Amino acid sequence: LEPSYQFMIRVRTPGGAATSEQWLMMDEMARTYGNGTLKITTRQAFQLHGILKWNVKAYMQEMNRVLLDSLAACGDVNRNVMCNVIPTTSKIHEEVYQWSVKVSEHLLPKTQAYHEIWLDGEKVHDTPQVEEVEPIYGELYLPRKFKIGIAIPPSNDTDVYSQDIGIIAIVEDNELKGFNITVGGGMGMTHGDDETYPQLGHLIGFVTPEQLLVTTEKIVTIQRDFGNRIERKNARFKYTIDRYGIEWFKEELHKRLGFELEEARQFHFERTGDEYGWVKGENGNWHFTLFVQGGRVKDFEDYPLMTGLREIAKVHEGRFFMTPNQNLVISDITPTKKRKIQSLITKYKLTDGKHYSALRRNSIACVSLPTCGLAMAEAERYLPSLITKIEEILDESGLHEQEINIRMSGCPNGCSRAAIGEIGFIGKGPGKYNMYLGAAFNGSRLNKIYKENVDEATILQELRTIIPHYAKERLEGEHFGDFVIRANYVEATTDGTNFHTK
Ligand code: SF4
Repeated sequence: LEPSYQFMIRVRTPGGAATSEQWLMMDEMARTYGNGTLKITTRQAFQLHGILKWNVKAYMQEMNRVLLDSLAACGDVNRNVMCNVIPTTSKIHEEVYQWSVKVSEHLLPKTQAYHEIWLDGEKVHDTPQVEEVEPIYGELYLPRKFKIGIAIPPSNDTDVYSQDIGIIAIVEDNELKGFNITVGGGMGMTHGDDETYPQLGHLIGFVTPEQLLVTTEKIVTIQRDFGNRIERKNARFKYTIDRYGIEWFKEELHKRLGFELEEARQFHFERTGDEYGWVKGENGNWHFTLFVQGGRVKDFEDYPLMTGLREIAKVHEGRFFMTPNQNLVISDITPTKKRKIQSLITKYKLTDGKHYSALRRNSIACVSLPTCGLAMAEAERYLPSLITKIEEILDESGLHEQEINIRMSGCPNGCSRAAIGEIGFIGKGPGKYNMYLGAAFNGSRLNKIYKENVDEATILQELRTIIPHYAKERLEGEHFGDFVIRANYVEATTDGTNFHTK
């Protein structure tokens, strides 16, 4: 008898987009083959847990039927390409979203193995059989995973500086002029090894839309050729950049491109989180951003989220967009359908406000226990209850509506991007976390270790001092992450290489 091995399947959805048909299929598959829930990841992808080994193939084939795949959703390749949500709010958003799809397609491995293994050799596209070559990844692929995200200022919802390649859309006179490029961001590290650290991307210049694909490709090939293949903990692109230096990198990139990047254009980021509720697009269609705590879609007691979204998908003619903050945009709702969608939102209590302090609205938690094999402490299952306790302190301080980013990861791999939370927690062991403070609200500064290996009582005790202090002495418009630096709770982290320095 074979043990009931179970798998997690992550689905590639550039920019987090899914049609209603795709949503319904994912919902059905989660209930048929998975653990009955869907997870919206921090990279805007579906994740399904609990797929038994003998169901994996059927699942892959069902996905393929609605034109979804899990190709390069994991492994040492470019992962799901992220993109600012609400792409149809303006023609710019739609245009930029299409670039995320193009970048994703351009950097896909060319291997037919996925189709041969999961789809019985049946091709999704009718391309002629050719000898397999990997023009971008070569025979060895990359030394480590690789991540790309696109932001449209002033929203930095994709945490663009956390990406191996950050792409910042430059819009002038309501026209997409091109993209600023950052390189060498990444969140992962290893506890106790200061040679590993989170890092933010360095701004290296500007490219036109026509230059974007080749630029991303050449950057990937530099990491392919110069990334550390001996020490996996030191193999991410950020370490390659830090080891060789940014000037060396730019020279190498220009050599491979045959042209030089222009000087970076002006831009300004205001925030990383999502803005909720209804927004009207330029074409008159509506979009509704729904808070999904921890990205977990399931039916809770008195909060039938999964059923409600299923019923919406049955009538919704537009798309869904999973956001980088694990929320969901019901997008492209025609004015005639708006009332119907709103009635379903109300019927299924999808905006039941009791969960929704500003802190909670700006929270991210990775999957962690019980399904992630790397987890050292709880995240998704614990952060909501911790927030409830922090909310008491916020309420007493009159800060219920104060926006503060809070992020929790179950291990230092950093899937929740906890190193850029104004309050960040990274799991150390059961019930114990390293506590970090001082990231920028707009994602442009890492946080700093404040307390090591602390439990809930200590976390709350510390916040009982800091939060009322912030309420009393903050300057007008001053964010929590800036305040804790000014008030000397932590030093500012100016670069990932001094992340561990207290
Ligand atoms: Fe990622 Fe670590 Fe969380 Fe697992 S426990 S989801 S690897 S951050």
